[in-house]
Amino acid sequence: MQSIFVDDAKCLGCKTCELACCVAHSSSKTLFSPCAAEAVQTRIYVESAGAGAFPLQCRHCAEAQCVRACVTGALSENPETGAVSYAKEKCLGCLMCVIACPFGVCAETRNKEIVTCDLCAGLAEGPACVGSCPTGALSFGSAESFAKERRRNYLEKSVQL
Ligand code: SF4
Ligand code: SF4
Repeated sequence: MQSIFVDDAKCLGCKTCELACCVAHSSSKTLFSPCAAEAVQTRIYVESAGAGAFPLQCRHCAEAQCVRACVTGALSENPETGAVSYAKEKCLGCLMCVIACPFGVCAETRNKEIVTCDLCAGLAEGPACVGSCPTGALSFGSAESFAKERRRNYLEKSVQL
């Protein structure tokens, strides 16, 4: 499965990724309407503590707690990709998924819908947050490729010492 990965050392906490997420999930796909007028909610959350910042979104967990908590089947896991998806017509609005998510990235909008990261499934270029990040803190790919990049970075830093 392809996932969004974070190099937290590169994150500035600028929240460009949050804005790009709102735009990608707005009807106009522009900066002018998304967050306020359409009540579009970001699906990536940049939290800061001290000098550090970390962008977090649905991790599409195996045996996802939100899916297990959902009694109606409104949340489900794609058996092929492993991605968690949401069907509004089945949702009761009970918020058990919000309670169950260990990362706090399952949220309710002002329109009483549940939103989680959908990996921008309709975008050929991949998740909007990844493409918008000015520092390259976000990447989209396999766990293997992310780990390999981490090893390469570690080696480069070690050689410079
Ligand atoms: S756009 Fe990149 S640098 Fe800015 S908050 Fe998001 S992850 Fe961090
Ligand atoms: S709020 Fe909707 S999606 Fe969440 S657990 Fe309840 S029925 Fe399922």
